[in-house]
Amino acid sequence: MAPASILCCDTDNRRPQMKLTGGCYCGALRYEAEGEPMLKAQCHCRACQSYSGGAPNLFMVMPAAGFRYVKGTPKSFRLEDRPDRVTRDFCATCGTGVASHRPGLPAVILKIGTLDDPALFKGPRAAVFAAEKQAFHIIPEGVHAFDGLPPT
Ligand SMILES: [Zn+2]
Ligand SMILES: [Zn+2]
Repeated sequence: MAPASILCCDTDNRRPQMKLTGGCYCGALRYEAEGEPMLKAQCHCRACQSYSGGAPNLFMVMPAAGFRYVKGTPKSFRLEDRPDRVTRDFCATCGTGVASHRPGLPAVILKIGTLDDPALFKGPRAAVFAAEKQAFHIIPEGVHAFDGLPPT
């Protein structure tokens, strides 16, 4: 099993503090996230497929303590059929999903496409919920794939 460090560290082995800014498509909802990225990954789950457009959903996990909305208030939605479902925050005006929250995880899961500078992502370190992937999804070479969530 991959050590957690492989999943998020940059290759120079430092664990950089980052300040990320981003928001929705229309600009009504804006956020800031500061801290050390906890995971950079792509999610292949069926829910993310519908949410993303069909591709895996690219995301970065940041500490909850460093995250805040600086403009607007999101609408939130959570499917209640399973206890492990995430709560998804989205803009009430344009519908863009920007972030989600997993029960019991003191972190925010940011959608890479909503960052002001998506290039900061630099690519996934893991593929999660690969058990639900479509045949046309691509997992980059060298990226660890997990059937579900990576071990904590
Ligand atoms: Zn919006
Ligand atoms: Zn997912």
